[in-house]
Amino acid sequence: MSDTYDLLVIGAGSGGVAASRRAAAHGAKVAVVEASRVGGTCVIRGCVPKKLLMYAAQFRDAFHEAAGFGWSLGQPHFEMPRWAAAKAAETDRLEQIYRQMLAGSKVELVEGRACIEGPGRVRVGDRLLQARHLLIASGAQPVRDSIPGIEGCATSDELLDLHVLPASAAVIGSGFIALEFASLLQRLGVRVSLFYRAGLPLRGFDEDLRTRAAAALQAAGIELHPGCVPRAIQHADGQRLLVLDDERVPGFPFVLNATGRRPNTAGLGLETIGITPDARGAIPVDAQLRTSAANVYAIGDVTHRVNLTPVAIAEGRALADSLFGGAPRSVDLSLVASAVFMLPPVATIGPTEAELAASGAKLAVFEADFRPMKQAFIGGTERCYMKLLVDAAGGRVRAAHMIGADAPEIIQSLAVAITAGATKAQFDRTIAMHPTAAEEFVLMREPVRRVG
Ligand code: NDP
Repeated sequence: MSDTYDLLVIGAGSGGVAASRRAAAHGAKVAVVEASRVGGTCVIRGCVPKKLLMYAAQFRDAFHEAAGFGWSLGQPHFEMPRWAAAKAAETDRLEQIYRQMLAGSKVELVEGRACIEGPGRVRVGDRLLQARHLLIASGAQPVRDSIPGIEGCATSDELLDLHVLPASAAVIGSGFIALEFASLLQRLGVRVSLFYRAGLPLRGFDEDLRTRAAAALQAAGIELHPGCVPRAIQHADGQRLLVLDDERVPGFPFVLNATGRRPNTAGLGLETIGITPDARGAIPVDAQLRTSAANVYAIGDVTHRVNLTPVAIAEGRALADSLFGGAPRSVDLSLVASAVFMLPPVATIGPTEAELAASGAKLAVFEADFRPMKQAFIGGTERCYMKLLVDAAGGRVRAAHMIGADAPEIIQSLAVAITAGATKAQFDRTIAMHPTAAEEFVLMREPVRRVG
């Protein structure tokens, strides 16, 4: 049986679904192929369930803080099986919504594994699908071979399906996933040790956030092991043994492998259309999301550039508009806000101070570093840190960095102003909203230093 489509999309994650629906809205005949669950990483085993577990974890802080505000509570107790059941119901509900959205948009869902057989030809089981345009949106998955023996350890995929939490855990890595899961495991009562090869966590983030993130993790009771990753992980008697360079071999009942993600390109049949993935397994694309093969495009994590759900969605819609909407456009990835939902959260938009300094920019650096009202009232130690990087000439705000309660919500709103090119003078003209933490971003009067 053979079917011909204007657009065939491989992967029904956030990017693939967005592209399919937008293309169908422009009148294209579209099919999307999915080998697993509709919704992809974000909905099924990433952003959504992670945040739902983070909400559960945050109650520990809330219970503690409540006492400082006059509340008396019994001994709180977290039951992972109840969370797991509610999470499963919620991801099922969201998957159904995604399926309905596809059907409502007249996008055909083809369930099975896609294998490209040549230009415009994709096999799914016994069906051969033909397409004028092919979009690869197959996402990424955890790297499972970064350290000898790590393949037997859990990744975030398995952790989010746990029904019983371990008493203690080693987390390997210090990127988004490592810090988010280290924070939430610790709040859920797991003793966490974090092993990472750099001196500070969150490589690529502003140094002032990295130092404060490390301090916050430590203050929460997470044991930090900077400059220390296992040479190998051995498995014995239900324990995972970390073989370290200094010959120590600590054992843990649970190890979380948070050493990065790899694009899903293996087994796709890319060689049949002349696409060669790069060293990290990613599909190279140009600004119009074109691959090296004619009429073949790629978006989102499979391209391994800015691995964030909203980027994949924006790229999917831009591509569909370009191909079928008569409105060719590309997505500007030069200013993309992002957040690490650790506790307290980190959020950022724009380059780091070091990156701007290295580019020769002349900057005024503004900072606020304070204990928020809520913490001060209860004698808490958690702080809030905010930084604005401003062009010395012209006063344009180039970047905002924050670690502290509500940082993602605050930076998301600031991202509008910064993307629009707001200047520090415009921040200064903005009347503060009091009492908030966010108001500090419009109350920074004198730079703490000048760069360049
Ligand atoms: P990251 O790239 O953020 O972090 C990977 C970590 O693994 C780094 O600390 C890295 O160390 C370490 N690492 C890599 N290889 C090895 C190795 N061989 N031995 C020891 N350590 C190693 O990847 P994540 O998997 O955490 O997240 C993947 C992407 O998904 C993120 O970059 C982000 O784009 C996205 N994401 C976004 C989230 C959000 O928006 N909140 C949440 C989760 C993921 P080093 O720094 O030294 O290289």
